[in-house]
Amino acid sequence: MPFDIIVAGTGPAGLSTAERASEHGLKTLVLERRASVTDSLMGELVTDKALRFLRVKPTSEYVGNKYTSIVGESIDTGANIVVDRTLLGNSYLLDEDKCQNLMRDRAVSNGAEFRYKSRVDSVVKEGAQVVGVTYNQSEVARAPLTAGADGSFSRVSETSGFKKPKWLLSYGYRFKLEGCKDIDPKVAYFLVGKDVGLGYMWLYPRSESEVNLGIGRVPSSQDNWDNLPPMRDVMKKYMKSRDELKNARIASVNGGVVPCAGIIPKFTGAGVALVGNAAGQVSSIVGGGVTTCLHAGKVLAQHAKRMTDSNDFSAKSVQQYQKEYMKTKLASNIQNTGKGMWAVSKYAMLNDPMAAAEVVLENLDAQTLNELIQGHASVATYMTLLTDFLPMVARIGIGYLKSLAVNGL
Ligand SMILES: Cc1cc2nc3c(=O)[nH]c(=O)nc-3n(C[C@H](O)[C@H](O)[C@H](O)COP(=O)(O)OP(=O)(O)OC[C@H]3O[C@@H](n4cnc5c(N)ncnc54)[C@H](O)[C@@H]3O)c2cc1C
Repeated sequence: MPFDIIVAGTGPAGLSTAERASEHGLKTLVLERRASVTDSLMGELVTDKALRFLRVKPTSEYVGNKYTSIVGESIDTGANIVVDRTLLGNSYLLDEDKCQNLMRDRAVSNGAEFRYKSRVDSVVKEGAQVVGVTYNQSEVARAPLTAGADGSFSRVSETSGFKKPKWLLSYGYRFKLEGCKDIDPKVAYFLVGKDVGLGYMWLYPRSESEVNLGIGRVPSSQDNWDNLPPMRDVMKKYMKSRDELKNARIASVNGGVVPCAGIIPKFTGAGVALVGNAAGQVSSIVGGGVTTCLHAGKVLAQHAKRMTDSNDFSAKSVQQYQKEYMKTKLASNIQNTGKGMWAVSKYAMLNDPMAAAEVVLENLDAQTLNELIQGHASVATYMTLLTDFLPMVARIGIGYLKSLAVNGL
């Protein structure tokens, strides 16, 4: 076969896989349905880890801004909580275009071939073994390993027969604003409120006059969703309410969907592996996928090299990628936050979705909040939560049980 690996998609997962696989000397073909590497790397807020996976320095041109503190705030009551750098570590805004071009250029210089306007339709199977893909309805590309990095609605996943038993999606929009006034460029905001619904808005400055304003929302139930104002309206209303944003211009709009229920149970098969959103490799509570996708692509590429060297692409051999990935700290953080997200969404189906967020903002200390967001809260933290937030935990528990009774799992 002319290629060792086919990568479907050029989001952060696909670019990371392609960059690393080609670096290992694998003949790499990348198929992307759009006309160029995409703008789907929403490098809104990342930590040092992402920079390490990208192999770029904090002072380099690939980093658009650096924050000294993050504020969580209710847009309804103004209650807020400040998480500073001593707790959070460093937080950065990536320069998305430069980062994507960097990964593509590295892959190309390692010999990878990129084919744009190439929409993958289906995997090609010989018996149970995936041996390539069909794309643009009539084209065929063959390789012993196919990496499905084609996002939340992955064709590779669907046509390989992978199951997504618990697929909880967060829908998001992001405005790039220009012409803002007197913005403190070092402070980023997470914003909650009743119009936001089960999710959050974010305001990440790029400079004193430019910010990224975004919103992500999980549809906890059809009724809750229908009763909420459209997400873009919520952002526009918020812009009007702040002097700094009142006269800002919307320079661009992006949107997307992020899975936030944890990693799917099985994401490998004979000759095929999923990576990134397609596998649910996204930190659930904050919907952060950039770091986890870069990491997963790196792990997959190492295994692609092993498989190529041993010429073994059997289901058992590809599964080694899943096994090793699931042992990593990032994977266990995703699983922990995924469980939390399910409990909260089930709770919100039968209760006021804002109640929990308001309680958290009014009572939780910054360290605990940070531990929960990052998915590595200690036993001691959970014990404190149980005592301090027993009423809320009990309500979530009851809501969860009720929703199980009504909807099943
Ligand atoms: C509004 C918003 C804000 C976000 N903010 C952050 C943030 O601040 N920090 C963070 O870490 N994460 C953030 N995320 C999440 C992060 O962007 C995603 O988790 C990440 O982009 C997923 O990467 P991926 O490569 O798996 O998939 P995607 O980025 O979805 O890329 C999939 C790629 O596959 C291509 N494709 C799809 N179908 C096909 C097909 N059939 N054939 C060929 N190509 C195909 C698509 O065009 C795309 O290029 C945000 C997401 C959204 C929507």
